[in-house]
Amino acid sequence: MQANKGRDTRPELAVRRAVHALGLRYRVSFRPIPTFRRTADLVFTRAKVAVFVDGCFWHGCPEHHTVSATHARFWADKITRNRERARETNAILQEAGWIVMRFWEHQDPTLAARAVAVQMTSLHRDATAAATESYRSTSPPHRPPRPPERDPHG
Ligand SMILES: [Zn+2]
Repeated sequence: MQANKGRDTRPELAVRRAVHALGLRYRVSFRPIPTFRRTADLVFTRAKVAVFVDGCFWHGCPEHHTVSATHARFWADKITRNRERARETNAILQEAGWIVMRFWEHQDPTLAARAVAVQMTSLHRDATAAATESYRSTSPPHRPPRPPERDPHG
């Protein structure tokens, strides 16, 4: 199988199909912030949710990234840069009020889609709750602390 990088990779298509099957509609390979030259794989513009499907090799997945014997340094540097770039993208989007979700390409697309759906549902609930709250009182809205989203790996 040929390595296929860039847009429309198979894992990305699988996630797109699974999210679509849950009735959610999104933009594909779209810039969440028009002036910021980074595209997310799935973008929910109204909810401000950006979804990325990260390649196991290109982003150094702890389970599937294998260290190349030749040009090891070159690849290590490249993957480090990719990861830094991803962190920077996350930070800038979050700063602008976006929710960023990242999945590994090896993750089950159905589970990834379900996580996106849960996020969209909770956003909807938060928005409703926040609206009710601000209209009811002047005290800051109470938000229960959330557990970390990431599954412990390995
Ligand atoms: Zn992987």
